[in-house]
Amino acid sequence: MSAKSMDELVSLCKRRGFIFQSSEIYGGLQGMYDFGPLGVELKNNLKTAWWKSMVYERDDVEGLDASILTNQLVLNYSGHEDTFTDPLVDCRSCKSRWRADQIEDTCPNCGSQDLTDPRPFNLMFKTNVGPLEDEGSIAYLRPETAQQIFTNFKNIVDSTSRALPFGIAQIGKAFRNEITPRNFIFRVREFEQMELEFFVEPGEDNLWHDKWIEERSKWWESQGVSKKKIRFLEVPKEELSHYSKRTVDLMYEFPHGEEELEGIANRTDFDLGSHSKNQDQLNIQSKIRKNSDSNSRLAIQDKNSNEWIVPFVIEPSAGVERGVLAILNEAYKVEKLENGKERIVLALKPHLSPIKAAIIPLKKNNEDLVSLAKNVKDELQSLGKGRVLLENTGNIGKSYRKHDEVGTPMCITVDFDSLEKNTVTIRDRDNMDQKTVQIQDLTTYFSNFFK
Ligand code: ATP
Repeated sequence: MSAKSMDELVSLCKRRGFIFQSSEIYGGLQGMYDFGPLGVELKNNLKTAWWKSMVYERDDVEGLDASILTNQLVLNYSGHEDTFTDPLVDCRSCKSRWRADQIEDTCPNCGSQDLTDPRPFNLMFKTNVGPLEDEGSIAYLRPETAQQIFTNFKNIVDSTSRALPFGIAQIGKAFRNEITPRNFIFRVREFEQMELEFFVEPGEDNLWHDKWIEERSKWWESQGVSKKKIRFLEVPKEELSHYSKRTVDLMYEFPHGEEELEGIANRTDFDLGSHSKNQDQLNIQSKIRKNSDSNSRLAIQDKNSNEWIVPFVIEPSAGVERGVLAILNEAYKVEKLENGKERIVLALKPHLSPIKAAIIPLKKNNEDLVSLAKNVKDELQSLGKGRVLLENTGNIGKSYRKHDEVGTPMCITVDFDSLEKNTVTIRDRDNMDQKTVQIQDLTTYFSNFFK
């Protein structure tokens, strides 16, 4: 059985050090969370898995890590200054604020129907760069990682000699001043996105869009998200973002209900076209504003015809926090044991597990056992598969329970046989089977397990 409620996940996350409320000792900061010792590992493992499949395992994608603070003009020409808004309503009775599209005509806080008319509220965080706080120094914390991929388009084409189709991938923070952050890490104000902008020839965009929808849902399955909990939502025309020709959202059954895990949009030639100079000389299909500030033509020359093409863009855009939440929800299981007791187990895919193996000396005060356990730890750690932990509590049962709950795939016990016969006992998280392995075979066993 997977998690029954968000409360169970929140409780596990706090108890075991996955996720904490940010600035908790001062009452928190709404819409912000901190990832603790295990959370940071899980999050990094998910990002690494994405990067591997998007960049290393393909031959048509380059990576990028651009700045978070973004020139105002970028977000002006992208359309975000004008249109990146949510409709905000105020309750006149209790003064609370809501997103108009998320409530009926009643205040969810006090039940009053005395609400203001909706008005647009821009979600971008504004700041100033440099010592002067004036109009000329305004910058934004990026609301999506995508824009700096577009502004770097020419740099990347020139430095890598790419031809269409090809993509640029980026993982990084994004910031949105959400009116109502809620549902744990589902809707927050500071989060991370894993975004690919895949550039294709106009006319080939529909085909590539379908391919990416398929690819992305398969990838989530390979991270342990069950197929039957994912649904494709064709975003209705009237709800499409200003740049989109078609968007399909991967909707997932989160503990609080079905919501978007990832969006896959056909952004057409809107972004590259919007950020280009000499737009009239390019065959731009989407409706864009004249750009009098850009010093670059964001187009690519066809190697055969020498014609300049403004590519169309397919964008799979996923949230890391939403991914972590979905994966925790899938992995969380409460199992009935033969002895009538229960155990909580986090059945994470091994590549996502925060700790790959716990090495447990049978007695915590026995120097020979502890020193051998430390050697085993160092050896497995050096294989580069992720974190290996020396668990020197002296309580095997308690260590097993802890590592079941945090999803450690194997516990390796070092006991007196280890000293005499050079063996260790490996206990499997999922079926709780125990087997004896020669220490000299351990690195091969471990490497094969995490292949
Ligand atoms: P929603 O409709 O839920 O607000 P969105 O359509 O605005 O999401 P996109 O602009 O498509 O989201 O962003 C791409 C991805 O970034 C989303 O699929 C989601 O995983 C993530 N994301 C967006 N906003 C947030 C947020 N406030 N907190 C956490 N993740 C977010």
